[in-house]
Amino acid sequence: MEDEPMLKIRSRTDCPCGTKEIYHDCCRPYHIGKAQPATAEELMRARYSAFFFRLVDYLVSSTHPESRTPELRTELDEIVHEMMWRSLHIVSKSKGTKEDKKGKVEFMAQYHHDGEFIEVEERSRFKKYKGQWKYLDDRG
Ligand SMILES: [Zn+2]
Repeated sequence: MEDEPMLKIRSRTDCPCGTKEIYHDCCRPYHIGKAQPATAEELMRARYSAFFFRLVDYLVSSTHPESRTPELRTELDEIVHEMMWRSLHIVSKSKGTKEDKKGKVEFMAQYHHDGEFIEVEERSRFKKYKGQWKYLDDRG
């Protein structure tokens, strides 16, 4: 794992999650723990940005304890360095608001891997843990 990946990200850079906000005002507060995503979609975007910037700590901590396997960190450490993320598009969502305890977000994302252009479609499930949104799995 790289040391202190956060230090390499310029805060005025556009946030990769697609909101057209600058990173400093968008997903960074979630990544550094200054704020918590209020909705499942915000967490989905923050996790996409974390994949983009290879912030494995955030990817682990934002995974629901039920899905946080002992191998998760090692697996993430391997895959994040193989993927060059290109875009995120939210297709649909259900529940996942401030008031909900569960939610689903369907998205399409594109990345390069080994010179290949790959498009993924996933229906992520999110579930609150101690009042905070966490990623559960892709079985939505
Ligand atoms: Zn963002």
